[in-house]
Formats: sequence, structure tokens, C-alpha cells
Amino acid sequence: MQTFGYAAQSAGVPLAPFTFQRRALRANDVAMEILYCGVCHSDLHQARNDWGASRYPMVPGHEIVGRVTAVGPEVKQYKVGDSVAVGCMVDSCQVCDQCRKGEEQMCREHNTQTYNGLDRITREVTYGGYSKHLVVREEFVLRVPEGLELAKAAPLLCAGITTYSPLRTWNVGPGSRVGVIGLGGLGHMAVKLAVGMGAKVTVLSRSADKRADALALGADALLVSSDPQAMARAQSNFDLIIDTIPVRHDVSPYMPLLDIDCTLVIVGQVGPIDEQLTLPMLLGRRRLAGSPIGGIAQTQEMLDFCARKNILPDCEMIAMQDINQAFERMERADVRYRFVIDMASLGNGA
Ligand SMILES: [Zn+2]
Ligand SMILES: [Zn+2]
Repeated sequence: MQTFGYAAQSAGVPLAPFTFQRRALRANDVAMEILYCGVCHSDLHQARNDWGASRYPMVPGHEIVGRVTAVGPEVKQYKVGDSVAVGCMVDSCQVCDQCRKGEEQMCREHNTQTYNGLDRITREVTYGGYSKHLVVREEFVLRVPEGLELAKAAPLLCAGITTYSPLRTWNVGPGSRVGVIGLGGLGHMAVKLAVGMGAKVTVLSRSADKRADALALGADALLVSSDPQAMARAQSNFDLIIDTIPVRHDVSPYMPLLDIDCTLVIVGQVGPIDEQLTLPMLLGRRRLAGSPIGGIAQTQEMLDFCARKNILPDCEMIAMQDINQAFERMERADVRYRFVIDMASLGNGA
């Protein structure tokens, strides 16, 4: 199937129109027309080869919402016209211990990424959601529940599940004391999801500038991390801290804020952090952890949870043609809180 979208042809150039082929439908494949695609920080990093493993041409995008246009003969759960979604992975081995327990993101044979991955059968490079059509095997297609607004649902597929998964791993529920560091695409979802679970949520920020924004998102408080007295008063006050900062930073000041046996989980940054002081970890048996996206079953659980609780990201809709400007604005953290591409802007050709 011929389709079109936007691609980076190399690390140093802007994204530009690109025409390419989607594979012919396999027996267990679902074909969809993409309606919306969220713009994730990793799209920017991958397009520019910041992590050193980019394959070109690259069609980024792994926060995908669309409508089914065709299904292979063995597809059971989806039919033409269904509202569906695809996140950060499109395949895995399906037989290892992790895949069998629904943790495909941990597949021992590595999951296949939605873009910049290699198809498990043909070894062709996978192309993501900055495009008009997509073909994905049934097991990696999510259902968008009734009542969830399609245009705003896209960022749930990466920013949503990346913050939902640690909240579930560390059993956040009514009364849990959750801290969120950073108030961007991931951070604002962490606040909304934790509030939806009944937690008492505090946003940690270097200045008080974001207090009104934090409270508007549902947080109970904002803690100014540059205020030593406020930080001292908040010692041992948190059950879980989710650190969404996307750049190198120092986590040591946050560790004493955790209660005994509690965890600070990094979900945003890829790369080194500053030198870590171990004393607060030893004394309070506190933990520093990381967490990626969740498995397919948990991603569906998250979508259903968001539909039930009416939780949606705050989005700024853009046209596909505006993507390079959006990347620049994202680098300056000038977005509240997630760009979503309206694929109708692609029209009938790239
Ligand atoms: Zn992402
Ligand atoms: Zn596996």
C-alpha cells in the first residue's frame, strides 16, 4: 500500500514530505488510517540521532490514534471502522517469559519499536505515525474506548503509559503521597493520572511560577525545590516521586523527601545523571529506579481508566507541516503540554 507522511532524511535536516510503502496485510494485521499523532520528545531525539542509533529515512511518531480500514483474515478483535491506537511498540517475540506475562516492553528478544525498529519478518525499517496509514499486527493494536476524545487521546500512548505504569508498579491509590518533578508532557500526565487514582499530588519545581498550572491540573501543592527550608520541611513526606526531567540533572536533593523504603523513579531522561549521594538511600532504605512504558494489557487498562475518569492530556493541535517549528518549540519547553498532529492536514498526498 502506498502512503505518505513526513520523514527526516538525515540527522541534520528538517522533516519533509515522504512517500513510501506500507506492507501488504498479513493474516493477523490491522490496517488503519491515522487520524492523530502525538509529538514525543523521543521523536525529536531520534530524528536528530541524539541517541546514536537512528536509521534514515525516519518517519517518527508513536502516539497514534486512527480508524481501522482493513483487517487480515485471522484478526478477531477489530473490524473496519473501529477506533484504535498504537503506542511505542508494534511486535515482540510473544513466547518469552516477559511476553507471556504481558510485559512485551521487556521482551527478551527486544520489542519492535513503532519507528526506527526492524520488522521481525522482513527486517525492513519500521515507519511511525507521522503518516497517513499504518499496518500493525493485531496483538499490538489498542482499542480507544467509547467516550475518550480521539483528538486528545494520542499522547496517552507514550506520555500516558510511561507515567501510568510506575504509578501501578508502586501501588499508588487513595491517600498515596506522590511527588512529580517536571511539568511537561510526561509530568502533567503523571499529575492527572495520580490524582485520578486518589493520590495526594505535589509538583516539585525550581520556582513557584508553575503553582497555578500545577493546581489547575489537580495537584494539591507545589514544592519549590530551590527553597531549602521548604525542602527540609518536606523530608520523608512522599511514597513515590516520579522524575520526568528530560535532561541531565541532580536527583540527590529529592531523595530525602522519600519516606522509608520508598522510591524515586526516573521516567524522562536517557543518559547520565549527576553524582548521586548514597547516604539518604542507605539511611532510609530509599530506592532510585527507572521505568519504561507498560505492556499492551496495561496500556489498554490505562486507556480504559482514562475514559472512565475522563482524564485527557492538554494538547495543542498542529498541522503536519508545522512539525519542524513544533520541534523547536518543544526544545524550549514552549508547549502546554503536548503537540498533537492532525493528520487531516496531510490531505491526499505528501
Ligand atoms: Zn514517546
Ligand atoms: Zn518476548
